[in-house]
Amino acid sequence: MDDETHAAVMDYVTNLFAQEDDAMASIKPESEEAGIPQIHIRAVEGKMMQVLIRAAGVKRMIEVGTLAGYSGSWIARALPEDGKLICLELEEKHAEFSRGTFEKLGLSHKTEVRVGKALELLEALTPDGPFDGIFIDADKDGYLDYLAWALDNLRVGGLILAHNAFLHGDILGEDRVEDEGRKRAVRGMRAFNQTLADDERLLSTVIPVRDGTAVAIKVK
Ligand code: SAH
Ligand code: MG
Repeated sequence: MDDETHAAVMDYVTNLFAQEDDAMASIKPESEEAGIPQIHIRAVEGKMMQVLIRAAGVKRMIEVGTLAGYSGSWIARALPEDGKLICLELEEKHAEFSRGTFEKLGLSHKTEVRVGKALELLEALTPDGPFDGIFIDADKDGYLDYLAWALDNLRVGGLILAHNAFLHGDILGEDRVEDEGRKRAVRGMRAFNQTLADDERLLSTVIPVRDGTAVAIKVK
């Protein structure tokens, strides 16, 4: 398949399986209006996560990096009525916006947004574990720490999802990038993917849709 055809079949899948309702479709334009960076997942990735969340029987999940609540909305909608998504977000402005998003989508009872550094918030959540799943989509050099927490605090059978496994191609090597911060991100993401591949407690892969979503099940 050439690139153009590949893009067309991706659109086909999105139209067939991942159509947004009006409330969901308003999140991106309204957050852009509010000056929030437009780095949300795509609808096709949201639907993919919903299927995996249901397959793993996830009820209590953590999201690391919430932005405007777009991915959180896909996740929360996949959880059962008595499920809960705890969202961890560094920026007060993003947290506030995402609370509004969940309110608008009727998801407030299933969501909670906490503000601070994800690693500190995760440590504070330890007594409430074990959890059923985690979605990681924040600072890329933190992924390995978030994974270490997940290995200790997810139940067996729990689901780990992590966005941007390809770093828009930069995953292929830090010599591809100039910026020191970006090099750190590349090193962090490569170490994260390597650990997913090597750790015997995990059954893992990367689903190569868009920028790649790493998926792992904690099997022991
Ligand atoms: N998951 C969102 C996009 C997240 S963008 C979606 O697809 O809809 C990454 C987010 O992570 C940003 O909102 C950023 O403020 C937040 N972030 C960055 N570093 C963080 C940290 N150390 N702890 C918690 N959140 C962090
Ligand atoms: Mg992302």
